[in-house]
Amino acid sequence: ARPIEELYSAMEETRSSTKKIDVKDSVIHWFKMDLRHADNRALALASDKAQAAGVPLICLYLVSPQDFEAHLRAPVRVDFMLRTLEVLKQDLAKLDIPLYVETVEKRKKIPDRVLELMEEWGANHIYANMEYEVDELRREAHMVRDLAENGKSFEVVHDSCVVPPGNLASGSGNQYAVYTPWYRTWVAHVHENLDLLELYDPPSKNAGAARSKYKALFGCPIPEAPENKALSDEEKKRFRSIWPCGEHEAMKRLDKFCQELVGNYHNQRNLPAANGTSSLSVHLASGTISARTCVRVARDRNKTKKLNGGNEGIQTWISEVAWRDFYKHVLVHWPYICMNKPFKPEYANISWSYDEDHFKAWCEGKTGFPIVDAAMRQLNHLGYMHNRCRMIVASFLAKDLLIDWRKGERYFMEHLVDGDFASNNGGWGFSASVGVDPQPYFRIFNPLLQSEKFDPDGEYIRKWVPELASVQGKAIHEPYGRGAEAAAKKNGYPRPIVVHKEVREKALSAYKDGISSG
Ligand code: FAD
Repeated sequence: ARPIEELYSAMEETRSSTKKIDVKDSVIHWFKMDLRHADNRALALASDKAQAAGVPLICLYLVSPQDFEAHLRAPVRVDFMLRTLEVLKQDLAKLDIPLYVETVEKRKKIPDRVLELMEEWGANHIYANMEYEVDELRREAHMVRDLAENGKSFEVVHDSCVVPPGNLASGSGNQYAVYTPWYRTWVAHVHENLDLLELYDPPSKNAGAARSKYKALFGCPIPEAPENKALSDEEKKRFRSIWPCGEHEAMKRLDKFCQELVGNYHNQRNLPAANGTSSLSVHLASGTISARTCVRVARDRNKTKKLNGGNEGIQTWISEVAWRDFYKHVLVHWPYICMNKPFKPEYANISWSYDEDHFKAWCEGKTGFPIVDAAMRQLNHLGYMHNRCRMIVASFLAKDLLIDWRKGERYFMEHLVDGDFASNNGGWGFSASVGVDPQPYFRIFNPLLQSEKFDPDGEYIRKWVPELASVQGKAIHEPYGRGAEAAAKKNGYPRPIVVHKEVREKALSAYKDGISSG
């Protein structure tokens, strides 16, 4: 059975016994990747339960350094999450709701710790939003059963996607493996089920008793990042000014984007120098905003009041947010992609290169391909990279350097502020042609043409590759081939580490050989 089905079975099996469980002294909401108090489904359900029974709501967050490791969380991402907890704590405190945060070193201890805390706080009911990675789904399935055996109810609900995974099937009843027909069905499904765009109220204020009874919990501090995920002072300063955290920032960003940029999104979204996208991915990945809120706010601005039709910028943006849903649906349906395997099994036999010098040059933005280097330096400096450039550098790693795409996927997760397993794995699978609905393997991006098309004036390159700041005109895209050799050499900009035309042929045969032996 797929992990999600294990969870469904556990909830089904325990439903009749957990329905009868009394509320007792308090109700708990367990925060994970849903670090907001507005439009949070499980939190709203927990709050309603507490209100109906007249008992306090307590919020819980467990920091697990092992989880950070397992999910390859970048230090910038960990910092963003810990800072966000502080904002969340303050928002909840205004509602007299405590947010209790504790570090649990070993992640296998989490279920026991949850049970202990429930006993300590006299809680028979705990709520959480569902996470779709395999380990999380399996852990939740076990917890639902174990807690039920201990006379407690654990309610795990869908929240992260606009349309819950499993709700869209093709005519033959299967999950779509191609985006376009999936997207058409997604739009139709939302239009037929408009309650999917109903936003959840923030929790209600706790009864006065919470402050006195659970007083100690209000004083609990937010822990520092574990040593191996800590930022240097310089990084803290840099990242904290670039990535203001918390749900209010997310809402501000969404509103500003919808007022100023969304109308022209379809024209600007592919231009890395343009600043024409929302930069909301960090918030969507940490749950400081919900995908539902994003789609709802954008749809409300569309004169058709629909997800499609009307304003081209709005519909294109909604269709991009939908990609996030798509990749989560894929992950739930084909969980083996969590196990380092390509979506397409016939692509498992490509013989990849593990050339460490080439990989290092790619990581550091020193390949001699200006658009690739600009993008990698943007990633290293901001913890973020423009979508077009993510495709360019991923294609370059897999097809020009023939390096195992999983090394690039990992590097991204270790550096992105918005690292998200499903979207990252999907993006790498697309670009390396091994994923669901991928770029065909024989379509190999030419970095030079990509550069000329999407950064025509070289503005993005000049910003991120200072060695080329003085290079004028078309030479910016290929300084050593177009007469800017002297400037490039003087400033120490490297020569190209491969010849695109040659490696293109090599890649084509490596893919062909891999597929035929697969
Ligand atoms: P906008 O253009 O404003 O889009 C709005 C939102 O829609 C994004 O915030 C994101 O949540 C979603 N979205 C947009 N495009 C995609 C897409 N192609 N796939 C999935 N969701 C999308 N996105 C991540 O959130 N985390 C990742 O780890 C990640 N890794 C990627 C790796 C590769 C190789 C590629 C090609 C793409 C990856 N993406 C990832 C998708 C995309 O690049 C980013 O979501 C986007 O650049 C974020 O910028 P934005 O918020 O301004 O996006």
